Amino acid sequence: MITGSTSGIGLGIAREFATAGYAVGFHGLEPDGVEISTAAGLEFGVPTFFSNRNLLSMESIEKLVRDTEMNLGPIDVLVNNAGIQHVANIEDFPVENWNNIISVDLTAAFHTTRLVLGGMKKRNWGRIINIASVHGLLASEFKSAYVSAKHGLVGLTKVTALEGASYGITANAICPGYVDTPLVRKQIADQARLHHMTQEEVIEKVMLIKQPIKKFVKPESIGALCIFLASDHAELVTGTAIAMDGGWNAQ
Ligand code: NAD
Repeated sequence: MITGSTSGIGLGIAREFATAGYAVGFHGLEPDGVEISTAAGLEFGVPTFFSNRNLLSMESIEKLVRDTEMNLGPIDVLVNNAGIQHVANIEDFPVENWNNIISVDLTAAFHTTRLVLGGMKKRNWGRIINIASVHGLLASEFKSAYVSAKHGLVGLTKVTALEGASYGITANAICPGYVDTPLVRKQIADQARLHHMTQEEVIEKVMLIKQPIKKFVKPESIGALCIFLASDHAELVTGTAIAMDGGWNAQ
């Protein structure tokens, strides 16, 4: 089950798991979620299920996990990917946005983890992968809620790794820099208009100013790392926060 998998990075991850033959629990708020999930099932010949439960509500998260397990069987691999962002300085940061970001980017991952961990322990196998961010490792101004939530998610990952260690369960966080998603492409176009630059200049001089390798991460590259983390080769990789950030956090 991959939260937020009907868009952007989550969709890239879901497609990699489907390609590898996994049954995939799709989830997200996109109105065409059913179509995305059904099309992936047909394209890759794997069972899929789609849920649009809102991660802001605990009851809704419980239904998401229950419905996915009823339709696809026990969740062996959980990817907490759904996330939201808001950018403002701290004294002007809308309290509602703070609460929502902490709920979706951190608390929802606690609930999904809490709900699948018992079953994974009984089966003596499980993989939990949390999509954090380079902002789970370091800060940027104006992103107080996001940076706090993603640092929290890295902390939750470490505790999950310790508690799962005797049961064949691993937990890891992936910390990407900017990823090439439709959302980011739109930001580039907007910034190019604003700064009177070409899109290439915006990528190098504005968006990726802190990143030594001036390229966006590809969603499918994050998906490929997830496939490795889910594999038996990664049985001893646990409690880590793996950066895929073009060297951003090496500075
Ligand atoms: P996106 O906006 O394309 O996708 C987010 C997904 O989360 C969507 O499917 C959306 O429906 C779902 N979602 C959001 N709020 C929800 C809610 N209340 N209930 C249920 N579902 C909800 O974003 P993305 O760029 O693909 O980001 C995915 C993850 O990767 C996020 O956690 C984000 O913080 C992280 N990340 C993104 C980047 C980047 O550059 N795009 C970089 C580092 C980390």
